[in-house]
Amino acid sequence: MALPRPVVLGNWKMNGLRADGLALAGALAERAANLSGTLGIFPPATLVGEVARRVAGSPVIVGGQDCHEKPSGAFTGSVSAAMLADIGAGAAIVGHSERRHGLCEDDALVKAKAEAALAAGLLTVLCIGETEEEYLAGRQIEILERQLAGSLPGSGNADRLVVAYEPVWAIGTGRTPTIGEIGRTHAELARMVAAKVAGDPVALLYGGSVKPDNAADIMGIDHVDGVLVGGASLDAGGFWNIYTAGGGV
Ligand code: PEP
Repeated sequence: MALPRPVVLGNWKMNGLRADGLALAGALAERAANLSGTLGIFPPATLVGEVARRVAGSPVIVGGQDCHEKPSGAFTGSVSAAMLADIGAGAAIVGHSERRHGLCEDDALVKAKAEAALAAGLLTVLCIGETEEEYLAGRQIEILERQLAGSLPGSGNADRLVVAYEPVWAIGTGRTPTIGEIGRTHAELARMVAAKVAGDPVALLYGGSVKPDNAADIMGIDHVDGVLVGGASLDAGGFWNIYTAGGGV
Protein backbone atom coordinates (compact mmCIF):
# COMPACT_ATOMS: atom_id res chain seq x y z
CA MET A 1 0.00 0.00 0.00
CA ALA A 2 1.30 3.45 -0.87
CA LEU A 3 2.09 5.96 1.88
CA PRO A 4 -0.64 8.59 2.41
CA ARG A 5 0.25 11.87 0.64
CA PRO A 6 1.59 14.41 1.23
CA VAL A 7 4.72 12.87 2.73
CA VAL A 8 6.43 15.64 4.69
CA LEU A 9 9.64 14.77 6.53
CA GLY A 10 11.82 16.98 8.71
CA ASN A 11 15.56 16.39 9.04
CA TRP A 12 16.79 18.17 12.17
CA LYS A 13 20.43 17.41 11.31
CA MET A 14 22.82 17.99 14.24
CA ASN A 15 20.47 20.40 16.01
CA GLY A 16 18.63 20.11 19.27
CA LEU A 17 19.53 19.36 22.85
CA ARG A 18 16.95 17.45 24.89
CA ALA A 19 14.79 20.38 25.98
CA ASP A 20 14.52 21.92 22.50
CA GLY A 21 13.98 18.63 20.73
CA LEU A 22 11.29 17.41 23.10
CA ALA A 23 9.48 20.77 22.97
CA LEU A 24 9.57 20.76 19.17
CA ALA A 25 8.33 17.16 18.97
CA GLY A 26 5.60 17.85 21.51
CA ALA A 27 4.37 20.95 19.68
CA LEU A 28 4.17 18.96 16.47
CA ALA A 29 2.41 15.97 18.04
CA GLU A 30 -0.26 18.33 19.44
CA ARG A 31 -1.08 19.56 15.94
CA ALA A 32 -0.86 16.10 14.41
CA ALA A 33 -3.37 14.08 16.44
CA ASN A 34 -4.89 12.75 13.21
CA LEU A 35 -3.23 12.97 9.81
CA SER A 36 -4.51 12.55 6.28
CA GLY A 37 -0.92 12.34 5.02
CA THR A 38 2.44 11.21 6.40
CA LEU A 39 4.52 13.36 8.75
CA GLY A 40 7.96 12.33 9.99
CA ILE A 41 10.79 13.86 12.01
CA PHE A 42 14.44 12.83 12.10
CA PRO A 43 16.13 14.08 15.28
CA PRO A 44 19.80 13.55 16.09
CA ALA A 45 20.52 9.94 17.17
CA THR A 46 20.78 11.03 20.81
CA LEU A 47 17.11 12.07 20.81
CA VAL A 48 15.43 9.42 18.67
CA GLY A 49 14.26 7.29 21.60
CA GLU A 50 13.01 10.15 23.76
CA VAL A 51 11.34 11.90 20.85
CA ALA A 52 9.65 8.64 19.82
CA ARG A 53 8.26 8.33 23.35
CA ARG A 54 7.21 12.00 23.33
CA VAL A 55 5.10 11.59 20.15
CA ALA A 56 3.81 8.08 21.00
CA GLY A 57 0.07 7.95 20.45
CA SER A 58 0.25 10.41 17.54
CA PRO A 59 0.79 9.30 13.92
CA VAL A 60 4.08 11.23 13.69
CA ILE A 61 6.90 8.94 12.53
CA VAL A 62 10.31 9.33 14.16
CA GLY A 63 13.45 8.24 12.34
CA GLY A 64 17.21 8.20 12.32
CA GLN A 65 19.26 10.41 9.99
CA ASP A 66 21.53 7.49 9.05
CA CYS A 67 22.19 3.89 9.99
CA HIS A 68 25.10 1.50 9.72
CA GLU A 69 24.87 -1.18 7.06
CA LYS A 70 25.60 -4.01 9.54
CA PRO A 71 23.23 -5.09 12.35
CA SER A 72 25.96 -5.10 15.04
CA GLY A 73 29.70 -5.42 15.48
CA ALA A 74 32.95 -3.55 16.00
CA PHE A 75 31.94 -0.22 14.41
CA THR A 76 32.79 2.42 16.99
CA GLY A 77 30.42 5.36 17.00
CA SER A 78 27.87 3.82 14.64
CA VAL A 79 24.20 3.04 15.16
CA SER A 80 22.51 0.12 13.40
CA ALA A 81 19.04 0.11 11.90
CA ALA A 82 17.99 -2.55 14.41
CA MET A 83 19.15 -0.27 17.25
CA LEU A 84 17.04 2.57 15.86
CA ALA A 85 14.01 0.30 15.60
CA ASP A 86 14.68 -0.93 19.14
CA ILE A 87 14.30 2.59 20.59
CA GLY A 88 11.10 3.34 18.70
CA ALA A 89 12.22 4.65 15.31
CA GLY A 90 9.99 3.87 12.35
CA ALA A 91 12.23 5.25 9.62
CA ALA A 92 15.77 6.07 8.53
CA ILE A 93 17.30 8.45 6.01
CA VAL A 94 20.14 7.01 3.91
CA GLY A 95 22.36 8.71 1.36
CA HIS A 96 21.84 12.30 2.49
CA SER A 97 24.20 14.52 0.51
CA GLU A 98 25.91 15.72 3.69
CA ARG A 99 27.00 12.09 4.15
CA ARG A 100 27.57 11.26 0.47
CA HIS A 101 29.78 14.31 -0.02
CA GLY A 102 30.95 15.20 3.49
CA LEU A 103 31.70 11.63 4.56
CA CYS A 104 32.44 10.06 1.16
CA GLU A 105 29.55 7.58 1.21
CA ASP A 106 29.22 5.98 -2.21
CA ASP A 107 26.23 4.36 -3.91
CA ALA A 108 27.18 0.82 -2.87
CA LEU A 109 27.37 1.82 0.80
CA VAL A 110 24.11 3.75 0.59
CA LYS A 111 22.43 0.71 -0.97
CA ALA A 112 23.74 -1.53 1.84
CA LYS A 113 22.40 0.96 4.41
CA ALA A 114 19.03 1.09 2.65
CA GLU A 115 18.82 -2.69 2.68
CA ALA A 116 19.73 -2.77 6.38
CA ALA A 117 17.03 -0.21 7.15
CA LEU A 118 14.44 -2.20 5.21
CA ALA A 119 15.50 -5.42 6.93
CA ALA A 120 14.93 -3.71 10.29
CA GLY A 121 11.40 -2.84 9.19
CA LEU A 122 12.07 0.90 8.82
CA LEU A 123 10.56 3.24 6.28
CA THR A 124 13.65 3.98 4.20
CA VAL A 125 14.22 7.45 2.77
CA LEU A 126 16.81 7.27 -0.01
CA CYS A 127 18.31 10.66 -0.94
CA ILE A 128 19.79 11.38 -4.36
CA GLY A 129 20.72 14.59 -6.12
CA GLU A 130 23.24 16.32 -8.35
CA THR A 131 25.96 18.80 -7.39
CA GLU A 132 25.92 22.36 -8.67
CA GLU A 133 28.57 21.58 -11.26
CA GLU A 134 26.50 18.67 -12.55
CA TYR A 135 23.37 20.85 -12.56
CA LEU A 136 25.10 23.59 -14.55
CA ALA A 137 26.25 20.97 -17.05
CA GLY A 138 22.63 19.78 -17.44
CA ARG A 139 23.49 16.31 -16.09
CA GLN A 140 20.71 15.94 -13.48
CA ILE A 141 18.95 12.98 -15.08
CA GLU A 142 22.17 11.12 -15.83
CA ILE A 143 23.33 11.56 -12.21
CA LEU A 144 19.99 10.51 -10.74
CA GLU A 145 19.88 7.48 -13.00
CA ARG A 146 23.37 6.48 -11.88
CA GLN A 147 22.60 7.03 -8.18
CA LEU A 148 19.36 5.06 -8.45
CA ALA A 149 21.08 2.20 -10.27
CA GLY A 150 23.74 2.07 -7.55
CA SER A 151 21.82 2.77 -4.37
CA LEU A 152 18.16 1.78 -4.77
CA PRO A 153 17.63 -1.32 -2.59
CA GLY A 154 16.52 -4.48 -4.35
CA SER A 155 13.59 -5.21 -2.06
CA GLY A 156 11.79 -1.89 -1.44
CA ASN A 157 8.10 -1.28 -2.04
CA ALA A 158 5.77 1.67 -1.82
CA ASP A 159 4.88 1.38 1.86
CA ARG A 160 8.52 1.05 2.98
CA LEU A 161 10.49 3.20 0.55
CA VAL A 162 10.64 6.92 -0.23
CA VAL A 163 12.99 8.55 -2.75
CA ALA A 164 13.98 12.17 -2.06
CA TYR A 165 15.44 14.24 -4.88
CA GLU A 166 17.67 16.83 -3.21
CA PRO A 167 19.90 18.92 -5.46
CA VAL A 168 23.06 19.34 -3.37
CA TRP A 169 23.32 23.01 -4.31
CA ALA A 170 19.79 23.71 -3.04
CA ILE A 171 20.32 22.30 0.45
CA GLY A 172 20.56 25.04 3.05
CA THR A 173 21.26 27.73 0.46
CA GLY A 174 17.85 29.36 -0.03
CA ARG A 175 18.10 28.47 -3.75
CA THR A 176 15.84 26.01 -5.52
CA PRO A 177 15.44 24.79 -9.09
CA THR A 178 12.54 26.42 -10.93
CA ILE A 179 9.09 24.84 -10.76
CA GLY A 180 9.55 23.74 -14.37
CA GLU A 181 12.91 22.14 -13.62
CA ILE A 182 11.56 20.25 -10.60
CA GLY A 183 8.60 19.11 -12.71
CA ARG A 184 10.81 17.78 -15.50
CA THR A 185 13.19 16.06 -13.10
CA HIS A 186 10.38 14.44 -11.10
CA ALA A 187 8.64 13.19 -14.25
CA GLU A 188 11.89 11.43 -15.20
CA LEU A 189 12.38 10.24 -11.64
CA ALA A 190 8.87 8.74 -11.58
CA ARG A 191 9.63 6.88 -14.79
CA MET A 192 13.00 5.61 -13.52
CA VAL A 193 11.71 4.48 -10.11
CA ALA A 194 8.61 2.80 -11.59
CA ALA A 195 10.90 0.81 -13.90
CA LYS A 196 12.83 -0.48 -10.87
CA VAL A 197 10.16 -0.90 -8.16
CA ALA A 198 7.07 -2.92 -8.99
CA GLY A 199 3.66 -2.23 -7.48
CA ASP A 200 2.22 1.01 -6.13
CA PRO A 201 4.14 4.20 -6.94
CA VAL A 202 6.91 4.99 -4.45
CA ALA A 203 6.55 8.47 -2.87
CA LEU A 204 8.93 10.92 -4.52
CA LEU A 205 9.95 13.93 -2.43
CA TYR A 206 11.70 17.15 -3.35
CA GLY A 207 14.20 18.55 -0.83
CA GLY A 208 16.33 21.69 -0.76
CA SER A 209 15.37 25.05 0.77
CA VAL A 210 11.67 24.21 1.16
CA LYS A 211 9.97 26.86 3.30
CA PRO A 212 6.36 27.61 4.22
CA ASP A 213 6.17 30.16 1.37
CA ASN A 214 7.32 27.89 -1.48
CA ALA A 215 5.91 24.57 -0.22
CA ALA A 216 2.50 24.80 -1.92
CA ASP A 217 4.03 25.59 -5.33
CA ILE A 218 6.54 22.76 -5.02
CA MET A 219 4.00 20.20 -3.80
CA GLY A 220 1.63 21.30 -6.55
CA ILE A 221 4.01 19.86 -9.15
CA ASP A 222 3.09 16.52 -10.77
CA HIS A 223 5.03 13.58 -9.30
CA VAL A 224 6.08 15.58 -6.22
CA ASP A 225 4.42 13.61 -3.43
CA GLY A 226 5.90 15.59 -0.59
CA VAL A 227 9.04 17.27 0.69
CA LEU A 228 12.11 16.60 2.82
CA VAL A 229 12.75 19.70 4.91
CA GLY A 230 15.93 20.64 6.77
CA GLY A 231 16.20 24.09 8.38
CA ALA A 232 12.48 24.91 8.23
CA SER A 233 11.60 21.73 10.15
CA LEU A 234 13.11 23.21 13.33
CA ASP A 235 10.06 25.40 13.86
CA ALA A 236 6.90 23.41 14.69
CA GLY A 237 4.48 26.03 13.32
CA GLY A 238 6.40 26.54 10.09
CA PHE A 239 6.87 22.81 9.55
CA TRP A 240 3.16 22.20 10.15
CA ASN A 241 2.36 24.96 7.64
CA ILE A 242 4.54 23.16 5.07
CA TYR A 243 2.56 19.97 5.69
CA THR A 244 -0.80 21.72 5.26
CA ALA A 245 0.50 23.58 2.17
CA GLY A 246 0.85 20.14 0.61
CA GLY A 247 -2.83 19.42 1.25
CA GLY A 248 -2.30 17.58 4.52
CA VAL A 249 -4.85 17.92 7.31
C1 PEP B 1 18.03 18.62 3.94
O1 PEP B 1 18.91 18.68 4.79
O2 PEP B 1 17.65 17.51 3.53
C2 PEP B 1 17.45 19.86 3.43
C3 PEP B 1 16.62 19.78 2.45
O3 PEP B 1 17.84 21.02 4.05
P1 PEP B 1 17.19 22.49 3.83
O4 PEP B 1 15.71 22.33 3.82
O5 PEP B 1 17.68 23.28 5.00
O6 PEP B 1 17.70 22.98 2.52
